[in-house]
Amino acid sequence: NTKRFVGQTAIITGAGSGIGKASAIKLAQQGANVALFDLLNDRTTDTEQEINRIREGAARAFDVDTSNAERVEKAVLETVELFGGVDIVFANAGINGVLSPIEEMDFEDWQQTLRVNLNGTFLTLKYTIPHLKKNGGSVIITSSINGNRTFSSFGMSAYSTSKAGQVAFTKMAALELARYKIRVNVICPGSISTNIDQSTEKTEELKDIIIPVQFPEGSQPLADGPGDSRQVADLVSFLASKEASHITGAEIIIDGAESLL
Ligand code: NAD
Repeated sequence: NTKRFVGQTAIITGAGSGIGKASAIKLAQQGANVALFDLLNDRTTDTEQEINRIREGAARAFDVDTSNAERVEKAVLETVELFGGVDIVFANAGINGVLSPIEEMDFEDWQQTLRVNLNGTFLTLKYTIPHLKKNGGSVIITSSINGNRTFSSFGMSAYSTSKAGQVAFTKMAALELARYKIRVNVICPGSISTNIDQSTEKTEELKDIIIPVQFPEGSQPLADGPGDSRQVADLVSFLASKEASHITGAEIIIDGAESLL
């Protein structure tokens, strides 16, 4: 398994941090060239440098807001020009966004969460599918256990809606793309230690809807605390590989049984 992706190219969105970064490192270690799509910031350029220290030329960072159609289209074309094609797509960029009671939520805040998490996923697939169709490939989408449950996720109506939308979208894409040997799967992590809290804004009104729960958010029977991004990267690598050749349209929970509490 150590060099399972030699000669392959992966596009990874949200690759400058957390789950995307860990997955980019993992895929590059296993031989893939990786296109890092993220908002241009120090974390993204640091990730690019870190991977290029593993293997010179393996990574290129692209300044892409995944909710911007033109930027996604352009960066995909630049990736194909640089690396010669696309084999693996990890549509992972996401934000928690503004957490607020529904009646207090600004329409613009609602839309921003859906733009990044849902439109961004759509645009990432829209512009990579023509390239994946050439040789088949693997698409992995990051949803969340919030995609089908709401335990202790107060104020996350927009986030949970976007994450549920990603699950439905995955299933439609898997059906539509099976004829091209493109597999599409969605992963649903529980709490993972990343920088996602930096993308969270809590409104003052949120405290009114928080009710006491038996288990604190992030409790996982399998571990003392949240999971690690590298554990998610192992799953991403498996789903991207030939070992997952009969898996498509699957919704895979990776949460240490958090969602069973
Ligand atoms: P993170 O904040 O560490 O990383 C997310 C990355 O996405 C950041 O580098 C950020 O700059 C980038 N990003 C944000 N908006 C973007 C945009 N418009 N265009 C391009 N890039 C953008 O968070 P993470 O936890 O690694 O999150 C990755 C995915 O995992 C998200 O979809 C998130 O919803 C999901 N997820 C995370 C957890 C968790 O507990 N951390 C749990 C379930 C699901």
